[in-house]
Amino acid sequence: MAQTKFENELTFERFVAEGNEEEFHKGYESAYKKALGGLKNRYPNVINGEKKFSKEGEFPDICPYDTRMTVGIFQKGSREDVVEAVKSSIDSLESWEQTTVEHRCSIFRDAADDISRRKYEFSAWLTLENGKNRFEAIAEVDEAIDYLRYYPKVLQEHEGYVLKLDGPVPCNETRSVLRPLGVVGVISPFNFPIAITTGMVTGALITGNVVILKPPSDAPLMGYMLHESLLKNGIPPGVFHYAAGSGSTVGSEIVKNRGISAIAFTGSRDIGMAIARTSVENGKRPPILEMGGKNPTIVSDKADLDKAVEGVGRAAFGYSGQKCSATSRVIVNRAVADKFTKKLATWVESKRIGDPSEKATFSGPVINQAAVDRFKEVIREASKTGQILTGGHVLDDGAFGNGFFVEPTIVVHVASNHELALKELFLPILIILTYRDLDEALAIANKIEYGLTAGVFSDDAGEIQEFFSKIKAGVAYANRPQGATTGALVGSQSFVGWKSSGVTGKGAGGPYYLLQFLQEQSRTVCR
Ligand code: NAP
Repeated sequence: MAQTKFENELTFERFVAEGNEEEFHKGYESAYKKALGGLKNRYPNVINGEKKFSKEGEFPDICPYDTRMTVGIFQKGSREDVVEAVKSSIDSLESWEQTTVEHRCSIFRDAADDISRRKYEFSAWLTLENGKNRFEAIAEVDEAIDYLRYYPKVLQEHEGYVLKLDGPVPCNETRSVLRPLGVVGVISPFNFPIAITTGMVTGALITGNVVILKPPSDAPLMGYMLHESLLKNGIPPGVFHYAAGSGSTVGSEIVKNRGISAIAFTGSRDIGMAIARTSVENGKRPPILEMGGKNPTIVSDKADLDKAVEGVGRAAFGYSGQKCSATSRVIVNRAVADKFTKKLATWVESKRIGDPSEKATFSGPVINQAAVDRFKEVIREASKTGQILTGGHVLDDGAFGNGFFVEPTIVVHVASNHELALKELFLPILIILTYRDLDEALAIANKIEYGLTAGVFSDDAGEIQEFFSKIKAGVAYANRPQGATTGALVGSQSFVGWKSSGVTGKGAGGPYYLLQFLQEQSRTVCR
């Protein structure tokens, strides 16, 4: 099939291009107001289409910028929920695999249209649930819509991955057929609860697998809304199950249960690696893991410093530093280090922290009290080992009193081998390191266990080329003011982690992603 051009949703960008931003703000604000009227609803787990209210109890989904608001009440799922989901999944596998590629693709396109029509509703709930400002929230919902449209395109372009091969003599018909793995457990993180969940779920289902989804406990609503939309648009109830609950019960049963063939996980390195070990020991295929990062941006003495400040500032402090792709280390040439750092501090101090539903807010809260506690610990260590240039405080009075707010923080004079410069912090804390020449910058950038995203700012084409050829990261950008290391677009910037940031080497939103959910069967017919 001929390749067609993929169009991203890009809601806000389209309104800007049309000079009609107010329309976007009106849409979001009206949906947000409506969502406030629907707080504290109870949401069941949904196994084989049946609503389950747990005997184990329930847990609240708390709004991180105003803990007086309970976004919804969710079920503490049990191991039995997973066992039941596995049973009906196994019963549904054959018939789901036998549906045509066209049929499966049309379901996802219909779900994309559904979520696109309801994009403000999804964005408003996303703000309430994980604290993204309206721009980040709509961008995440757009990304989910993009996955729902992009993966059908890829699957159809590859004709469902059925390939006729030259038959050996005396056999005259051989084919390579890619077939589903079976039941896939999808475990997703709080920071992209609609986009990343949708990406993994779509990748698994569209290729003929059956899915049991465990959403993040800090943001379970987005997965619920996705589940509802996919079932409404034609996914059979036995093919996609929604099982909220803790990592140690629902998550652990998904990882251990031998009826589940593979795990697709996005989350932290430690949990991902533990899942990899346990799932393989329990007879599963190697898992599809996307994990953390400690992403560097190199700022050269030949860079446009204003552009670099904008790109680094957005990538380090957007969504309070809680993106796996966030810039968390800047490696800046000594000749421009002071100038760059001062400009960056001024940029950061000019940004508004607060209620993310408000139009002017640049960044909102961190996700929970544990993140605030981690912030305090890192700041204690940073004050001992380096110097805090700006930020460093928990914000807990006045308007901040009911949420999990911390200041965006820049730390200087930290040794490049100190653990603050090596460990993923997942907070709005940026470590600034310096270098003398590009070799040294690249050595610092690469001397780390992660390899997710990386950026460079330089007006020297040779430096950029050297950066691309030597940086050990799956996603690399040069001179990007929209986000030095963040903001990959489905269909044009595959999102893939190297080293301890990922294991399969095939990126989300890219042309090879679906292959991870398939296994090859060689078929020969002798005549
Ligand atoms: P996390 O703590 O690792 O949790 C991720 C998921 O794993 C959650 O659903 C969690 O459930 C579940 N889980 C916890 N313990 C488990 C267990 N023993 N068995 C099975 N599942 C278990 O990560 P997070 O804090 O939500 O997300 C942030 C992390 O994700 C960061 O490290 C970030 O870099 C990474 N991330 C990576 C990418 C990427 O594409 N590379 C994208 C986004 C985020 P509970 O919520 O119930 O604990």
